Amino acid sequence: MENTVLATKWRPKLFSDLIGQDPVVTALVNSLDNKRLHHSYLFTGTRGVGKTTLARILSKCLNCETNGIGSNPCGICSGCKAIDSGQFVDLYEVDAASRTKVEDTRELLENVQYMPTQGRYKIYLIDEVHMLSTHSFNALLKTLEEPPEHVKFILATTDPQKIPSTILSRCLHFSLNRISSEIIKSHLEKVLENEKINFEENAIKNISKLADGSIRDALSITEQCISHGDNKITYDNICKILCLIPLENINKVINYIVKEQAEELIIFIDTMYYQSVDFKYLLQEIISVFHQTAIFKVTKKSNDSLYENSIRKLSDKYNEEEVQILYQIGVSSLKDLEFAPDFKSGFEMAIIRMLMFTPLDLEKLQLSGSIDKKPSNKSYKENIIKKESVSYNADSVKKNLNNDTLTIEKNWAVIVKRLEIDSMTKNLANNISFDSQNNDSLSFLIKKDLMRVVTDRSRVKLQEALSSFLKKKISINISESDSDSKLQTLHEKNEEQNNIKLSEANNKMENDNFVKTIKEKFNATSIDNSTTINESIKGD
Ligand SMILES: [Zn+2]
Repeated sequence: MENTVLATKWRPKLFSDLIGQDPVVTALVNSLDNKRLHHSYLFTGTRGVGKTTLARILSKCLNCETNGIGSNPCGICSGCKAIDSGQFVDLYEVDAASRTKVEDTRELLENVQYMPTQGRYKIYLIDEVHMLSTHSFNALLKTLEEPPEHVKFILATTDPQKIPSTILSRCLHFSLNRISSEIIKSHLEKVLENEKINFEENAIKNISKLADGSIRDALSITEQCISHGDNKITYDNICKILCLIPLENINKVINYIVKEQAEELIIFIDTMYYQSVDFKYLLQEIISVFHQTAIFKVTKKSNDSLYENSIRKLSDKYNEEEVQILYQIGVSSLKDLEFAPDFKSGFEMAIIRMLMFTPLDLEKLQLSGSIDKKPSNKSYKENIIKKESVSYNADSVKKNLNNDTLTIEKNWAVIVKRLEIDSMTKNLANNISFDSQNNDSLSFLIKKDLMRVVTDRSRVKLQEALSSFLKKKISINISESDSDSKLQTLHEKNEEQNNIKLSEANNKMENDNFVKTIKEKFNATSIDNSTTINESIKGD
């Protein structure tokens, strides 16, 4: 099948064939049928929405020999036929982009005063009219101010802002809609059924989305897919032709993010790398899924998305703010992608950033009930390890609850990190240590020599920040501790933690699979003998 055949064959020839432009069509039909004609029309809208098609239909309406002026040209008289085939001598179609100079415009308008040769009206269709130079606009304006009776102007543009207001005010302005992907999809289905071409629903859905509001683009993409796909359109095929990433891959990546399976994800990215996946497009799609999730969170409507399952999973795990953060990470990573050594490593960094962002589940925080006080170094160490491995499937949450880990006491470090407080208040938070809890009243201890950091102001600030973080009214008491030796503050814990981390670092680098994988992956992209390294990972 020849290229562009579909788009030409299915080009609307009547107002009733036009898709997705009902308001404009209604207005034009009414004015034509009531013989209220204007001497110049302006059609605006993004590319491929049907501006020139509409202009040609309007030309036929004005010049049809059989039906006269009206909204329903016959389509078979010599005038209609000539316009359809682009051979009507009184229709001057100009692409302003290639004829911007004033000489061009003068030449075009030279014969304006002479009567039409074949039709009722001489029609000047100037496409991309915003490209004209200022002088050209001035030349055009003179004619537009006092056009001869037998002349009609149809201006079309994607960018009406660039047209001088003097010109705008002399035109009847019609703004064409971007066509929704649902309308495009149902049109494609109609076309393909008519052409007796088999297609997969998912494939058409994707093409409609890619066409971005343009029927013309949708038809030419479809054309491309038909000629490559042996007269049928399958989802697999369009992924190959258009270098798309199959839906399952995107859903898989999201699933790994939701389950926080870093190691599997890095291996999966590697697999996709060998399938020549476009990582920029992949990241864009993931951002789009976050965007759709944010909308789903607000509207509770799924909008028939291709990523419905992923959206629901994300929505179950993250709240509105968290989805915003994931989106933000995606968008800023997309910008960084250009500066990354290659798209794959840029994509990996984006994913690692998303994985590092693990929200704290407030509802699981235990705010009341008895608390087993064990402020020993050992339990703190255990806590850190547990917190790092908190994963959010139901089982592990239950396990963690049983272990009594999700308490304010044990999450104090994480909570303090997330409080919106100034440095003085932070200093206070870092130097107090959790003592006891009585419903919504929390008691903390502070060392005698540090009592000076406790001011009314910082205590109230901390109280306010905690209340807003935990979404309930919290009151806090801070008292001096009796025996200084047993107390350990966040400040001290941080230092100790750093030491532990340092001493464990070497060990961890050798034993931690995630680190190992990342390390090897990063080598694999930069070192020549990558094949052996990658093979050893695939064997894992
Ligand atoms: Zn006709």
